Amino acid sequence: MIYNEYKGLSLSALGMGNMRLPVIDGDDSRIDVETSREMIAYCMNAGINYYDTAYGYHGGQSELVVGELLKDYDRESFYLASKFPGYDLGNMPKVEGIFEEQLKKCQVEYFDFYMFHNVCEMNVESYLNPEYGIFDYLMEQKRNGRIRHLGFSTHGDIECIAKFLEAYGKDMEFCQIELNYFDYQFQNAKGKLELLDKWNIPVWVMEPVRGGQLASLSEDATAKLKAARPDEDVPAWAFRFLQSFPSVTMTLSGMSNMDQLKANINTYEENKPLDDEEMKLILDIADDMIRKTTVPCTACHYCVSKCPMGLDIPFLLKLYNEAMVSGSGAFIAPMALSSVDADKQPQSCIECHACEQVCPQTIHIPEELKKFAEKMGN
Ligand code: SF4
Ligand code: SF4
Repeated sequence: MIYNEYKGLSLSALGMGNMRLPVIDGDDSRIDVETSREMIAYCMNAGINYYDTAYGYHGGQSELVVGELLKDYDRESFYLASKFPGYDLGNMPKVEGIFEEQLKKCQVEYFDFYMFHNVCEMNVESYLNPEYGIFDYLMEQKRNGRIRHLGFSTHGDIECIAKFLEAYGKDMEFCQIELNYFDYQFQNAKGKLELLDKWNIPVWVMEPVRGGQLASLSEDATAKLKAARPDEDVPAWAFRFLQSFPSVTMTLSGMSNMDQLKANINTYEENKPLDDEEMKLILDIADDMIRKTTVPCTACHYCVSKCPMGLDIPFLLKLYNEAMVSGSGAFIAPMALSSVDADKQPQSCIECHACEQVCPQTIHIPEELKKFAEKMGN
């Protein structure tokens, strides 16, 4: 296992994400505890010392199971991370009760790492609202030793992250973002990395293989990667990509079975960042995937002033692309749509076609919006 230095700690470069543990009968809230026990034992034995959970993972069961399984190990032998569930606005006034409950669920006296969970457009104002006192409460827990390092995770866009950083950035010790060679461009993870670098905030990575989407590629892409690195398999490229960024300190993978676990641990026996040519190759492959699966909106905004309904067309198409790329696992698009006014939703399009006449990409906008609305169940 390779390790990264962080504020005097030696963190395994690969962390165990506990949001996709093995389950029984396909029921996400029924974790297969015995298989999970074997997996955590394997992690510990292989030198993984970072374990990430959250209040909502596995319907609230992840914290309970992780707490139960890690109890078998010396508290000093692992670093435990969890998060305040602000993705649900109903939780905002409950920070104290939830934090106490989380410590109990995890059977620990303190969290090594604790995050504002998913700072995004939908909740950033609430996270910043002093009336809820979330930041003050968490800083107090830091002072009294019950949080060792405070940070945040985010699926928000750059503007949203910048707003959060303006308020709390000087106290944020790390930030967890979705980073992989697909989202480097698709979700502008490149821009997020650069922003965090400006703030000197180390990067924690989630979704390194995009929920498994990057674990297998087309025949053509696979052949190109094999030719460039004959000894490396396709999933390993996703991790080598991340090893190419110095600010990436922790990479979390939500591993669901022993085979994935063993393969990823094997990859993390060595640090083998991509050279310039390899980086170009993988980003070209990602470009090709993006082009084949998404509507080619460049967010030029020419169409917006033409829309009698005042729809933010590029924003809606961006969410549509996200929903298409993520397939059945899509959650960002529905979450972001929930913050859009009812009369500005994709189904508000009256199919007047005025927007199409100015679109340089010749996108059939009303058709795409209709498909998006249907995909969202409207
Ligand atoms: S077709 Fe729909 S999105 Fe385009 S201008 Fe008309 S109402 Fe707006
Ligand atoms: S005009 Fe076309 S490319 Fe430009 S923002 Fe509108 S949909 Fe996107």
